[in-house]
Amino acid sequence: MEIKDLKKIGETKKCPYCKKSLEIIPKRKKKCVFCGEFIYVRTRPSDRKKVLVTDKGKEEIEKQWVIYLQIREEKELAFLYPKEYKKAEEELRKKWGTKPTFKDIKWIILQKQVLKYASEKQWGLYRNSKLEMYYIFKNENKNKEALEILFEVCYLDLNGADNVILINKKISSNKVIKKPGTDEFNLKEAFLAPAVVFWIQEIMDVFKLSDLEAKNLFLKVNKERSPYPYNFMPFSLEEAWKKLKQTLKQEVAKKQEMERIDVEEIGPIIEAIKKFVQKEDISNIYQVLNKFYEGYKSKKKIISHPERIKILLKDMLYSKNSRISGIGESFMMFLVKRDRENFGVILEDYIKYIKKNFEKFIESHLIGIIGKYDISLVEDLIPLLIEALKTDEEWNSRRFAAFNLGAIGTKKPELVKKAIPIMGYYVKNSKNDWLKDSCIDSLGMIAKGDKNLIIEYRSLIEKIAKTDKSPYSRKKAKAVLELL
Ligand SMILES: [Zn+2]
Repeated sequence: MEIKDLKKIGETKKCPYCKKSLEIIPKRKKKCVFCGEFIYVRTRPSDRKKVLVTDKGKEEIEKQWVIYLQIREEKELAFLYPKEYKKAEEELRKKWGTKPTFKDIKWIILQKQVLKYASEKQWGLYRNSKLEMYYIFKNENKNKEALEILFEVCYLDLNGADNVILINKKISSNKVIKKPGTDEFNLKEAFLAPAVVFWIQEIMDVFKLSDLEAKNLFLKVNKERSPYPYNFMPFSLEEAWKKLKQTLKQEVAKKQEMERIDVEEIGPIIEAIKKFVQKEDISNIYQVLNKFYEGYKSKKKIISHPERIKILLKDMLYSKNSRISGIGESFMMFLVKRDRENFGVILEDYIKYIKKNFEKFIESHLIGIIGKYDISLVEDLIPLLIEALKTDEEWNSRRFAAFNLGAIGTKKPELVKKAIPIMGYYVKNSKNDWLKDSCIDSLGMIAKGDKNLIIEYRSLIEKIAKTDKSPYSRKKAKAVLELL
C-alpha cells in the first residue's frame, strides 16, 4: 500500500451528511445548519487537506493516520539504510519463502546495527538501537524482553555512553575509545532518562517485581549481554543498580506528591516551584511547572497572581544554574504569549541582558524562538548571529547561529538573506556532520518562508539527499527538497 492509495474521505465545501453546500466552512466541530449533525474537521493523510467528515469518517481518518505512519516508517528505514534493508528482506524471504513484514526487517537491521556499533565501541549509537528494540518488544507486549532491554539502556546511560563527544572529536571513534571501559564512557554525560525510568516502573508494576528480583534481573542481563567489559565500567553494576533503585523510589514519591497538587490552585503551585528553584531540583521544577501549564490549557484563562509569578520568573531567568534559567526562558515565553501586557516587560529586560551577554546565549535556541514570536524584538541581533555563523571558532556556536537564523527565516526570510550563502557553504564543504545538518535544516526553515531564496541550492541539496554518506544528512536534505 502507498500513501496515495489511501481513500480520499470527506468534503471540502459540503456537509458530509446531507451534502448541502455550506456557506461558512467550519474550522472546528460544528453542527450543520441544514441537518443538525455534528461536522468534524480533520486533516486527511493522503493529501494533507483539511476536510469535513462525519462521525464515522472521523474514525476512518484516524485509522488512515496509523497506516500512514506505518508506511512512512517503512519508507524511512528503506531510505536511510537502502542496502541493509534489501539484504534483510532477501535473507528473510529465502528463509521463510514469503514476503517478510516490515517489523521483521527492522528487527534484523537493528540486530546488525547493534553488532556493528559494539565492534566500533560506539556505545551511544548502540544504546539508541537497543532502545528501538525496546519499542518493538513493547508494541508486541513482550514485557519481560522489553524490561531487559531497558536495564541495558539504563546501565549504558548511567555510564555516560554518549555520541556527541565522539562526533565532536571525530577521530576519537578509533583513537580515544581504544581502552575498554575507561575513555569510551564519559561520566559527565551520565544521566537517567525520565522516560526510561518511567517505563521500567511501568513494567515492574505489571510483574509486581520485588526489589531483589528486579536487581537480580538487572545484574544478570548486563553481565550476560554487555559487549563491553562490565566489570571495568566507571560505574559498577552494583552502584548503577543502587542509583536506579533510588531514582525509581523518588519517582514514585514524586508522583504521589504531584497528584496531591491541584492544578486549579495557582498559589501552592507557585510556592512549590519556588521551593524547587531554591533547591535547584530540576526534575521537580519540570513536574510542577507542567502542573501550571495544565492549569492554563484553556487559552482564554487569565493568569492569576502575575506579580508573584514575575518575582519567581526573574529568580529563574537570572539563576546561576543554567538549566534553571533555560526552564525560566520557556516559562517566560509561555507567559508572554498569554499575557504580554503583564509579562512583556520581563522579556524586554531579558533581551537587553541577552544583548549584553551575547556570548552566553549563542548556544541556545532562544533568539530564534523570540524572533518567531516577534521579530522586532531581536532584529538587531541578526548581524551578530550572521557574524557568529561565519566566524565563530566553536562549530557548535556556528551550528546554533544557523538554527536561530533559520527560525527567524521561517517568518522573515528577507532578514536572513545574507546567511544563506554561508549555510550553503557549510552544507557543501563542512566535514562536520552536525554543522552541515543544522545548515540543511536551516535552509529548509528559510525555504518555508520563501523558497525562491533557496532555489539555487536545490541541486546541492539533491546531491546530498542521494549520495551523502550520512543517513541523517540524506534524510534532512530530502525533507528540504519536499519544500522546494
Ligand atoms: Zn448537513
